[in-house]
Amino acid sequence: MVKKNPLPLPDLVLKHHSADLYPLLDQWLSQKKVAPVQLMTGPAGVGKREVVYFLSQWLLCQNNDLSDQDAENDLFGQPATLSTDKDIHQPCDKCSSCQKALSGNWIDFCEIASDSEDSDSNSIKIDQLRELRSSLGFAAYESRFKIVLIRDAEKMTVQAANSLLKIMEEPPPGWMFFLTASDPSLLLPTLVSRCQVLRLKPLPSEIIEELIQQIDPKRARISARLANGSWSKAISICDEVFWEKRSAVFRFLQNPASELGALVDWAASDLKNLLLLIDHLEQVLEDLINWTLNNEKEEPCQTLPFINEDYANVLDTFAQSSIAKMGSRENLKAFLIERAERIFRARSEIQAPLNKKIVVQDILLPWV
Ligand SMILES: [Zn+2]
Repeated sequence: MVKKNPLPLPDLVLKHHSADLYPLLDQWLSQKKVAPVQLMTGPAGVGKREVVYFLSQWLLCQNNDLSDQDAENDLFGQPATLSTDKDIHQPCDKCSSCQKALSGNWIDFCEIASDSEDSDSNSIKIDQLRELRSSLGFAAYESRFKIVLIRDAEKMTVQAANSLLKIMEEPPPGWMFFLTASDPSLLLPTLVSRCQVLRLKPLPSEIIEELIQQIDPKRARISARLANGSWSKAISICDEVFWEKRSAVFRFLQNPASELGALVDWAASDLKNLLLLIDHLEQVLEDLINWTLNNEKEEPCQTLPFINEDYANVLDTFAQSSIAKMGSRENLKAFLIERAERIFRARSEIQAPLNKKIVVQDILLPWV
């Protein structure tokens, strides 16, 4: 079990999610009770973990409108007393619980996650759930709740998921469980059925552009397009490696045979690299497939809404020369759809330990 420092959730991101969060808080306040198992879903990088930190701080805050009632009465239908002199949707940031949360020294909060996110065996294992189960006899130390975050719950092994299900069947009094999952279809349906589900929406590109303006103003616009609604992806895009490898992918598109070796070696050397390559190829494919759909007359068109708008010429040249080579726009479209399906399969394949080089070659060789 690990404790983590909270990450700052930019006001802009919190404001975007507040449309979903505030009704949830209003529901908790009016019912004077909270469902013990919450599932937070939404695209990767949209801020699910940070939203759980926010909700946990709110729940543990000694000045929220849940905890300032008499504990015996407020669980049984007493009407909520909503204060008018404070924002009921915000933790106070001043009480000792809030201070501990803000400094990362949580007392009644813990987080369970896969051991190492970048390795090939990035699962949440049964031992981590055993450790959790052994601590279930303990009550909250100083707050009303003891909160557990299980991050990326779809990474639980089958044994770990079954162990969690046993806990969910009879949650210990005063304990709350937050699960986050980008793909809830990978969770046990019996687990999902026990959760109150909140789905966070992707971030609009205007919000991401505004956030990146403060870090890399020159690339803010294109970064926002490439981030595809993901805040964490937007942050990772600010890394220079991202832009270097993006250039390499477009060099590959212009001259596949000479760029293949270097790209395979780089992508096969690390799971993180492979995921980055897949991200780049997916967006290139989306642009090219849109090109074939929009460009009915097979004429050059520089005004297409490319995601990779700064590489419009390269994409256009690739599409034109591929049509000349393959005989028709329909043949190019079929080739691109086949490549997109291969990439889609690769995403699930790389969840398991495997020879990354074989996967990368299988993805890239048909382009040569
Ligand atoms: Zn507080």
